[in-house]
Amino acid sequence: MRILVIGGGASGMMAALTAAEQTDHQVTVLERQARVGRKLAATGNGRCNLTNQSASPACYHGGRADFVRLVLDAFPVPDTLSFFRNLGLLTVTEPSGRVYPFSDQAGSVVDVLRLAMEQRGIVLEAGCEVSALTFRDGAFFAETNLRRFAADRVIVACGGIAGGKLGGTGSGYALLRSFGHRCTKLYPALVQLKTDPQWVRSLKGVRAEAAVRLMQNNILLADSRGEVQFTEYGVSGPAVFEISRAASVSGTGQTVILDLLPPMEESELAEFLHARAQQFPTLTLENFLTGILQNRLGRTVLRACGFTLDKTAAVLHRQDFRAIAAKIKAFDLPVQGTMGMDQAQVTAGGIETNGFNPETLESRLRPGLYACGEVLDVDGDCGGFNLQWAWSSGHLAGQLKGTHHDSNS
Ligand SMILES: Cc1cc2nc3c(=O)[nH]c(=O)nc-3n(C[C@H](O)[C@H](O)[C@H](O)COP(=O)(O)OP(=O)(O)OC[C@H]3O[C@@H](n4cnc5c(N)ncnc54)[C@H](O)[C@@H]3O)c2cc1C
Repeated sequence: MRILVIGGGASGMMAALTAAEQTDHQVTVLERQARVGRKLAATGNGRCNLTNQSASPACYHGGRADFVRLVLDAFPVPDTLSFFRNLGLLTVTEPSGRVYPFSDQAGSVVDVLRLAMEQRGIVLEAGCEVSALTFRDGAFFAETNLRRFAADRVIVACGGIAGGKLGGTGSGYALLRSFGHRCTKLYPALVQLKTDPQWVRSLKGVRAEAAVRLMQNNILLADSRGEVQFTEYGVSGPAVFEISRAASVSGTGQTVILDLLPPMEESELAEFLHARAQQFPTLTLENFLTGILQNRLGRTVLRACGFTLDKTAAVLHRQDFRAIAAKIKAFDLPVQGTMGMDQAQVTAGGIETNGFNPETLESRLRPGLYACGEVLDVDGDCGGFNLQWAWSSGHLAGQLKGTHHDSNS
């Protein structure tokens, strides 16, 4: 049987390798870029956080939870790790549950997949972009910039539009829409947030462990805890990525509130600051928060409270300690938007999952047509969950289970 996989990214390579396990399948991967796995090679800051030991449907959004559960159950994390081990990839699991290649190089993950594809006789057509897909007389036809490809089964693994520079395009959505599948609205997720630059600009490069809340009209939209990185345009880092999906889909009027000292209560902190001022009355405000917060961050907090830094601690009154403690516990930054799809790690939204059978990932509208990966309306939290979705869904689609009525329509 002739199998076409459109897209040589994470899910497409997994689907191709799975399909090639059946010896009567001739598998061809069509990849629009010059090489496979370009986005995969850039994941996890070049380290590739390839999965997470705690992957469960609760870590995913979009498509219905039962859809995600069936797909994850069909190829769960332990199976994924054995699959990669069989390809020769050794991995390490961090205490957080995140799994990385032992080599610490995302390129290793791409390489073991690419080499296995070569060994199993999978044909790779790189620089080959599919512009249209049709079904006629019992066969699929893919129009590309190189030539027309015919196939008995097609797996669409084109990914989403996030990370445009690494190859994200909307063409997978268009190919599936041409068979009647519907696409939801698309939003950037796992993305940096733009905030009012007044305070963050001077903090560029500073990192802090913070508890993060995303508020809108006094309603909590999302919260997280972990590292926040300040940038010249706003905030980034894992804790910000966690709340970014909610920021992306929730409209205007949002504020990010950072608790810059989660372990200490506000009243205890105010007392601590009071005692510090009494002990060191000649200390300039420039150094008043030294030892409590990162130096630049401490100075910015004091400026945001309205103090000039050349004054000494002796000028501070009881209400000032309360105000400083309150600012440290709730450093508020009005949100101006996200950094957009190009900077996002994943697309929230995609092709509606109710058009696919979750036990096979075969289209309910065109038997013999399958989809996997980010092109579907499923996106995961930060931490290896998106690649696990690519592996699980790619593996399931690659089994090519289904009804296969080869009728003309
Ligand atoms: C910077 C960055 C870091 C990330 N880090 C992580 C991480 O550490 N852990 C994690 O779990 N997730 C991470 N992600 C998300 C993860 O990379 C994606 O969710 C995953 O790669 C999706 O797999 P996919 O196969 O669906 O799509 P992709 O990997 O994007 O592959 C799709 C492929 O299809 C090709 N293609 C598209 N259209 C066509 C066409 N018409 N014809 C032919 N080929 C086509 C594309 O060129 C591409 O190679 C990161 C994403 C980015 C951008």
